[in-house]
Amino acid sequence: MIKKIDHIAIAVQNLETALETFVNVLGCDPGSIRIEEVPTENVRVAFIPVGESKIELLEPMSEESPISKFLSKNGDGMHHIALETDDVANEVKRIEPLGVQTLGQPKEGAGGKTIVFLHPRQTNRVLLEFCQKKH
Ligand code: ZN
Repeated sequence: MIKKIDHIAIAVQNLETALETFVNVLGCDPGSIRIEEVPTENVRVAFIPVGESKIELLEPMSEESPISKFLSKNGDGMHHIALETDDVANEVKRIEPLGVQTLGQPKEGAGGKTIVFLHPRQTNRVLLEFCQKKH
């Protein structure tokens, strides 16, 4: 079951600069933010808590990162919406008959969560992520 919007992710060229902007605009405590490297995605990320959800800032760690390609095509901007579920594998099974494909298999993302992206072709060009908390 999909529970809520876990986070909205924004691709940025400079994590520190973007973080400062968002912390100021949202008026949140910089101490509540952690920066993490996610080697499976080749990105550095920061999560800014916003009530029940978060804003995720994504910075590429190398040219090979999918975020690098996104930035060279689009520049900084909204990248994906992540939906929390209690069972990623089950959601993938559920959407298969709808003709919605995933981008690869579920894998480990930031915070040790299990994540999978859906092909934006079938979702009005919006990149969606299913994510499941580590038990
Ligand atoms: Zn995400």
